[in-house]
Amino acid sequence: MHNTTSESLGSCPDCETPIPVRYLLIRYERGDDTAGYATCPDCEIPVRPV
Ligand SMILES: [Zn+2]
Repeated sequence: MHNTTSESLGSCPDCETPIPVRYLLIRYERGDDTAGYATCPDCEIPVRPV
């Protein structure tokens, strides 16, 4: 089986660690843009992935 679920939301603005999708806390739409907050696996605080 080939499992390539390396999808990430972006990187932590603080430590630049890639944040996996499963760390997503909330997602919201703002106009045409979709933004969200996720817990950084490294900082262990909610951040907005960049
Ligand atoms: Zn971080």
